[in-house]
Amino acid sequence: MTWLFPPPAAPSLPILGQDARFPVRRILCVGQNYAAHAREMGHERAEPFFFSKPADALVSDGADPAYPPATADLHHEVELVCAIGEGGDIIGWAVGCDLTRRDLQAAAKAKGRPWDAAKGFDQSAPCGALTLGAPPDPAAVIALSVNGQVRQSGRLDDMVWNPAEIVAKAGTLWALKPGDLIFTGTPEGVGPIIPGDRVEARIDGLSPLSFTVRP
Ligand code: MN
Repeated sequence: MTWLFPPPAAPSLPILGQDARFPVRRILCVGQNYAAHAREMGHERAEPFFFSKPADALVSDGADPAYPPATADLHHEVELVCAIGEGGDIIGWAVGCDLTRRDLQAAAKAKGRPWDAAKGFDQSAPCGALTLGAPPDPAAVIALSVNGQVRQSGRLDDMVWNPAEIVAKAGTLWALKPGDLIFTGTPEGVGPIIPGDRVEARIDGLSPLSFTVRP
């Protein structure tokens, strides 16, 4: 067999302390999973719901995402990312940023339309190195700063649905497989970023994520 053109390279994440990389199959994301963020977006507590980003939206290894076209309101959302291994269990953890075209999301919500253009655009999923093993402490701080100013700061146990519950729910909707990433939602304080902004995101116990928004 031959290819009509070379198949695209597999998106992947580095793993802390290992040469092996984690090949990314797909990216699921949970909406409104911290009570205060759900409230700031105008929602009450509800069952977890999911959207997705294409695997090639991943930005890894310290690369800087470009400011996307077709928006004037790009937002940061710092999130705990779970990495699924063989058996469908969570085998690793990372700090991710669910970049969002908030203006397109608001327009989609108003018309009951899908969120793909708001959430699943190119370079919309910066993610730090994976840490394999036990989950971070539930009391761990999850925080994001822009140009040194703290914008988001919460604790993982502020989550409405914890990672095990999210994976269990997702597993009723999809067959989770090795290589899947799940972004688990963001605490309050989301806001706009512009070209040149330096974003630093962290969760206690995990490899931090930082990037500069390219023009
Ligand atoms: Mn999000």
